[in-house]
Amino acid sequence: MNDRKVYLDHNATAPLRAGARGAMLAALDSANASSVHGPGRKARRLIEEARERISRFAGTAPDAVIFTSGGTEANALALRGTVFGALAAEARITRVFISAIEHESVRANAMALAEQVPGLKVSEIPVTADGVVDLAAFRLQLMQGKGRALVAIMAANNETGVVQPIAQVAKILCAEGGEAVHLHVDAVQAAGRMTLAFDDWGADTMSLSAHKIGGGQGVGALIVRDGAPLVPLMAGAQENGKRAGTQNAPGIAAFAAAVDEMDGAGEVERIVRLRDGFEDGLRELTGGEVVIFGQDSERVANTSNFAIPGLSAEAALIALDLEGVAISSGAACTSGTVKPSHVLAAMGVAEDLARGGLRVSFGWTNSQEDGDAALGALRHLLERKRRLNARVQGAQVPTLEPAAA
Ligand code: PLP
Repeated sequence: MNDRKVYLDHNATAPLRAGARGAMLAALDSANASSVHGPGRKARRLIEEARERISRFAGTAPDAVIFTSGGTEANALALRGTVFGALAAEARITRVFISAIEHESVRANAMALAEQVPGLKVSEIPVTADGVVDLAAFRLQLMQGKGRALVAIMAANNETGVVQPIAQVAKILCAEGGEAVHLHVDAVQAAGRMTLAFDDWGADTMSLSAHKIGGGQGVGALIVRDGAPLVPLMAGAQENGKRAGTQNAPGIAAFAAAVDEMDGAGEVERIVRLRDGFEDGLRELTGGEVVIFGQDSERVANTSNFAIPGLSAEAALIALDLEGVAISSGAACTSGTVKPSHVLAAMGVAEDLARGGLRVSFGWTNSQEDGDAALGALRHLLERKRRLNARVQGAQVPTLEPAAA
């Protein structure tokens, strides 16, 4: 990422923190944590210390933490592991509810389950125009059917940053579903941007990913409630039999180090000021024309998703990139495709406007100058666009002056 002067895409990947880099390098030649010899025991100790650290961060006990290769695998394990685990425990799940704004890794697994498991039905829970799960609609959906259910709702959305009412969802589940409902929370984008409270939320599983908090790519965790009927995606003894494969000791050490480095730095307060200052600048720059998605909802500190009417996301991305400013259009995983974001569509944003959706996500590396640089690059682009429009109009509108004799 050193080739980027200004990096404002922390929701895609947050740059590696110094502490995480140090911990990763120190653990690079770790032995296999399953080996019984001294070096193996050393690797195991490192992993168990990290497990303890991550569990406090997640708001639960160390035994609940299952290390994975990232958020995508954690989501797959939560959905597939729970559905097949419940089947094995003769407590078959017949209904899966996912919010309409879930990450592709949740959506794709839910859809695959609907094809693979006879009798399993997947329903989307709608969101309001503000990007929040519609609790009344969800309660109705849940009450209308029968049978055990798995419900997946993210803690904060990756595109808009809108925080979801997990505690209220859990309350509805308690009242309407009781023991027969599993709650999965994708907290990949909430981690480090708001407090995680796995136990207090009453969730059954929760996903985390290290690279969203500067802990390095390719490692994450699934937090699993004691007694949840989870089977592994592949058979193996590691991670208490819930996740097969030699653990990524350097990645796990870096994950824990990133959590350590983040704590107590007043980072969230600093970042929310950067984001809010940037949005004030956007309003000023566009004479109030900018549309900021989810701005009236509770949002995590770092994310701003907006569109400037008449400005295409592709044009803006390229123009900012040329000025050394890295931002994103919608989610990184959907960048490069022309399909407008499913999140903005679920919020009822008109397709034209959604096609202009841009995401700026701040993080630990950023300062006021970075937000200013993004605003400056947008200003240049809008000015060029205005000049071009004026020229095009000038060329098209025939002059009304009588021709000179
Ligand atoms: N869930 C959310 C909300 C995400 O934003 C992402 C990544 O963009 C993931 C899951 C997947 O995480 P990973 O990149 O670690 O596989």
